[in-house]
Amino acid sequence: MFTADQNLVKKINQKTVLNQILANSPISRARLSEITGLNKSTVSSQVSTLIEKNLIFEIGQGQSSGGRKPVLLVFNKNAGYSIGIDIGVDNIIGILTDLEGNIVVDQFEEFENPSPKQTQDLLLAMVRKLIEQMPESPYGLVGIGVCVPGLVNNEEKIIFTPNLKWDDKVDLKELITAEFNVPVFIENEANAGAYGEKVFGSAKNYENLIYVSVGTGIGIGIIMNDTLYRGVNGFAGEMGHITIDLNGQKCSCGNRGCWELYASEKALMKSFPEKYKHASVKEIISLANQNDPEILMELQNFGYYLGIGLTSILNTFNPEAIIIRNDIAEALPMVLNSIRNSISSRIYHQLDNSYELLLSTLGQNAPALGASSITIEHFLEGFTA
Ligand SMILES: [Zn+2]
Repeated sequence: MFTADQNLVKKINQKTVLNQILANSPISRARLSEITGLNKSTVSSQVSTLIEKNLIFEIGQGQSSGGRKPVLLVFNKNAGYSIGIDIGVDNIIGILTDLEGNIVVDQFEEFENPSPKQTQDLLLAMVRKLIEQMPESPYGLVGIGVCVPGLVNNEEKIIFTPNLKWDDKVDLKELITAEFNVPVFIENEANAGAYGEKVFGSAKNYENLIYVSVGTGIGIGIIMNDTLYRGVNGFAGEMGHITIDLNGQKCSCGNRGCWELYASEKALMKSFPEKYKHASVKEIISLANQNDPEILMELQNFGYYLGIGLTSILNTFNPEAIIIRNDIAEALPMVLNSIRNSISSRIYHQLDNSYELLLSTLGQNAPALGASSITIEHFLEGFTA
């Protein structure tokens, strides 16, 4: 017969109680006992431990149908802070969040063709600045999550970044850990974005979803049964490199005619007439809002090409939702309509009505928030694992 180790049971109970407080805060001890099925004295002792650890605290009094009003328990979101960094192709976003993922400080820096060394220096400087502005708290900085637009293996080593020209000699995890001495997590940008949307954004209510990051390239984050799917090596989701034109242009990945050569934001910006060559994304959005016919035509094509790859994604994964992360698509409803039309013209009608096509609600902060939440989750697991 299996006899569970008492310590293990305690830890499992603590995890159950903490998870319920996280999900249902503010909550009474009596309600916790009802939800978890643990008896009142077990709940009380776990609650005392969590209060001692500064992870939860008591607040005033809740509604009661009569008799003594119960004291309510709240998760202490300010028990510590987490940092999420998103290294893009031409910018870095850094955020400091509380333990509920609320952004306390944010930083944004643009750059052009930086060397890996320059990017790393900028990253370290940004983390230092965020730490300087971090409020006092019992646990201080609980970790740093960093995401990059490239392949990250299961050992969190960056293997390939087609648009950043890094090579596998950069051990970002080691570099950051050495300087700040907190847990560090490296993740692929689309995976982090998917995670961010799942925890805080438009994917909250879906268990099976595909997050599509459309920028310089296209990356997807796959969440199946509420879990991020990484593949055997961690490289799943490189759908930007599915072939949509056999004899198409050569791609930096070694293939030809990759989807991202036609449907990325970079491809869209290249498609505009000469006079708009130096226009910014903001200017393009404004021109579209003024009904510039040349811009509208290319935006229509953008949606069309996105729809082609998304049709393959729908055929492969049959997800509940597809979430698009792109500044232009988020600003202009016509892009989403073009995507929908393109998919509808190509897909089984049974599948056409099976999914929600959504925009990212976290916008450009999605990957940094995802990276931060990976760190927070690890921190909280540490109390209960
Ligand atoms: Zn490619």
